[in-house]
Amino acid sequence: MKIKLYDTYSRELRDFQSNEPGKVGLYACGPTVYDYAHIGNLRTYLFEDLLRRTLEMAGYEVNHVVNITDVGHLTSDADTGEDKMEKGAARTGKTAWEIAELYTIAFKNDLKQLNVIEPSLWCRATDHIAEQIVEIEKIAEEGYTYITSDGVYFDTSKLDDYGYLARLDVEGLEAGSRVDLGEKRNATDFALWKFSPENESRQMEWQSPWGKGFPGWHIECSAMSTKYLGPQFDIHCGGKDHIPVHHSNEIAQSKVCYGTNLANYWMHGYFLETDKEKMSKSSGEFLRLQTLIDKGYDPLEYRYLCLTANYRSDLKFTWESLDSAVTALGRLRKASHSWGAPTEVDEEVLSAFHREIANDLNTPNALAVAWGMVKSSLSDGSKKATLLAMDAVFGLDLANWEPKTMEIPPEVEEMLRHRNQARSEKNWGEADRLRDEILAKGFEIKDGPEGAVLESIE
Ligand code: AMP
Ligand code: ZN
Repeated sequence: MKIKLYDTYSRELRDFQSNEPGKVGLYACGPTVYDYAHIGNLRTYLFEDLLRRTLEMAGYEVNHVVNITDVGHLTSDADTGEDKMEKGAARTGKTAWEIAELYTIAFKNDLKQLNVIEPSLWCRATDHIAEQIVEIEKIAEEGYTYITSDGVYFDTSKLDDYGYLARLDVEGLEAGSRVDLGEKRNATDFALWKFSPENESRQMEWQSPWGKGFPGWHIECSAMSTKYLGPQFDIHCGGKDHIPVHHSNEIAQSKVCYGTNLANYWMHGYFLETDKEKMSKSSGEFLRLQTLIDKGYDPLEYRYLCLTANYRSDLKFTWESLDSAVTALGRLRKASHSWGAPTEVDEEVLSAFHREIANDLNTPNALAVAWGMVKSSLSDGSKKATLLAMDAVFGLDLANWEPKTMEIPPEVEEMLRHRNQARSEKNWGEADRLRDEILAKGFEIKDGPEGAVLESIE
């Protein structure tokens, strides 16, 4: 199975080739743990899980590293505003350390419920302050920094191809920049280290060669990815919003420290958008996975919804589209369950599936292959084996799904007996009346080859 991936850096669909045969180093920018993750954030982690599962299906061993941003992410990408963690602490009345812990646990729990494979390694920014300071020192030694009254900044004008990843029009940005640059020399310059405000102690602060303070947001990812995967690893991922700032800055830092682009492939998940506005945590109103669960949805139904769109297109979230995913996944689960034990995988169908998924993770087409097979004349055992093989990538946990066993109240059983009797006597009026009465009790009659069975309409 040869994989093609879209690389944002070269703006090309490229044949995937790993640095080391059979192994892949994959780094994904993790959550800023100042609040719960919204379902938009989770779409990005589902995309990364899909990528990992696809690489594993192709036989690679994946070293999947995800960071936890628990310091340094400011409310504005221009390095102004408050630290999101300290702000979250003020909002909840807890300490910054407590909320980091609380939302990290909540985030990991969300991923588990979505059947996302646990990363090989989690790394926290606050556990890697020393590594970040070492990188900043290197950047300073190379002459790419300057100091202002509030921090140490990276001078982006010194790097010829700064912003290439985003094809940033640096001069245009400079000319059109209406924001007050303060002491920053260029609009695109960014903080490597921020000083703690004078006469004020922060909950999270450390000593450094430049004074007490905390690292800028971008340096953590360069420092930790390099520590665990090397200075030029295989794939770096994140949401598309990271292209113009965060990832452009990670590349700038690594160029100066190691002369590399940090990763050979840069991949970005597109956004989940709500009807009204782009989903954003800072707007305060957002949908969590728990919100869906509270409304009676199963997290894997959301996972199915995400599979219906290509990761490289924005997906508009509507309740109607989630309901369609409920129906589709329900059908797939029931079909798969009804097929019994798996026998032989159908290699032809599985290769068709591989072709789609290996083509830059084309999940809509891969699902179409699965549905084509469901409706085909293959034997049940073969369908089951082939679908389960595909599910190693879809991650819908089809192998473990069981129909809900339900308690049928004796009076409903009694009504069903009467209805079957009426039917056998061709007393259609009475049979229909009883069907409606049973429906009013919350059960639907399904007439199948083995007679009538009841299904809960819940
Ligand atoms: P954050 O916790 O804000 O640092 O974001 C975590 C991840 O979610 C990042 O990779 C973002 O790029 C991504 N992200 C943020 N908003 C959305 C969205 N609406 N849809 C998909 N991904 C998003
Ligand atoms: Zn990052």
